[in-house]
Amino acid sequence: VSAWDVAVVGGGVVGVSIAYHLAAAGCERVIVLEQGQVGGGSSLRAAGGIRRQFSTRANIAWSQAAHERFGAFHDEFAADPGFRRCGYLVLASDEPSTDLLAGAVGLQRELGVPVETLDAAGIRSAFPDLDPSPAAAAGRRVRLGAWTEDDGYVDVGAVLAAIARAAREAGAVVREGCGVRAIDVPEGRVQTDDGPLYAGATIVAAGAWSGRIGRLAGVDIPVAPLRREMWRLRPLAARGPLPWTIDLDGGFYFRPDDDGIVASGALSRSDGLATHLGRELPRAVRGALEGRLPAAACARERGGWAGSVEVTPDGGALIGPHPDADGLWLACGFSGHGFMHSLVAGAVMAEWLLDGKPSAADPHPFRAGRFVDGGAAPERLHQRPPD
Ligand SMILES: Cc1cc2nc3c(=O)[nH]c(=O)nc-3n(C[C@H](O)[C@H](O)[C@H](O)COP(=O)(O)OP(=O)(O)OC[C@H]3O[C@@H](n4cnc5c(N)ncnc54)[C@H](O)[C@@H]3O)c2cc1C
Repeated sequence: VSAWDVAVVGGGVVGVSIAYHLAAAGCERVIVLEQGQVGGGSSLRAAGGIRRQFSTRANIAWSQAAHERFGAFHDEFAADPGFRRCGYLVLASDEPSTDLLAGAVGLQRELGVPVETLDAAGIRSAFPDLDPSPAAAAGRRVRLGAWTEDDGYVDVGAVLAAIARAAREAGAVVREGCGVRAIDVPEGRVQTDDGPLYAGATIVAAGAWSGRIGRLAGVDIPVAPLRREMWRLRPLAARGPLPWTIDLDGGFYFRPDDDGIVASGALSRSDGLATHLGRELPRAVRGALEGRLPAAACARERGGWAGSVEVTPDGGALIGPHPDADGLWLACGFSGHGFMHSLVAGAVMAEWLLDGKPSAADPHPFRAGRFVDGGAAPERLHQRPPD
């Protein structure tokens, strides 16, 4: 039976990032246990967004650290992350969303994020393809836009491959096709498809499957899977640059993609781990999208993909020791932001396990115990599901 300092359950971008940071810091016996292939869970299905616009202090701070890491990715990993800085534009139409967005902008500025506000005229002049006050009856007039020019998206395949390679080069073992079947936390015993192993610490980095892993270990990990569809629309004759656009009240987001866009589609809780794609972009989304981006009316739906988002009750990650199980650690529940936060999560977990003091970012707001001690702070800056 093999013995490891750390066993990481899940070989997505978070798991391999943790393994890389641990091994690079000198931890010699690190193993990643992945039931399928590296990235085959949600990581390779992510849209790749890297944004600093959030409503909670913790998500903003983590995103600032993440933004820096992706900016320096090439130097660290000798690989191009394909960081395309198309900018992020968040739009609010209804009064509560406008208040929420104005508050979030204030907090971002306080923390040093260079975020600009745009009114309808400013949006029209910067992005001639966007219609902030669509004539269509169902259209919502934009009251406030928040713009971060330097945000954008990365090539998820390139990033994942580079981090996984760096983890292996630093000495970590990444074992694919090796599912975890049971975890005896007090004994430090992990039962896998390849037999048992012992680990000083076991880290749950199993994305949308983390709630299941909790059940295997006999503890509660409040992460639920939510199926999210993404649709490709093309060709789209845009007159100017298209930013990554989140329409808080319209129930959608989209980002540029070659000669078209990729737009968010249906969200469903009932089949959260399924990855099938529906027949079409839901009509309510398509209508709202065409109101905001009239050129989309002529674009065809050219397929897409679906994956599972790992949601927690307040939309914040779970980072740190499990409060009820000594030796079991959590790095999961990123609620749709795990790709962007993966490098920071890896650094924090490695520092915490090896030195006891994480410094890359403050994990305290993401402690699992916040749901019991009243410290939960809901993240609210995401689009409302379609009406
Ligand atoms: C459609 C879509 C769009 C998204 N867009 C973005 C975005 O723009 N920006 C962003 O930051 N995030 C985005 N996300 C979220 C992002 O994909 C996740 O937050 C991120 O991939 C989490 O990484 P992970 O390593 O924790 O999880 P995963 O990549 O899911 O890895 C977990 C792994 O655990 C494995 N596993 C499960 N059970 C077991 C077991 N019993 N034994 C061994 N292994 C097991 C799974 O096979 C899986 O590979 C998006 C997600 C979806 C679905």
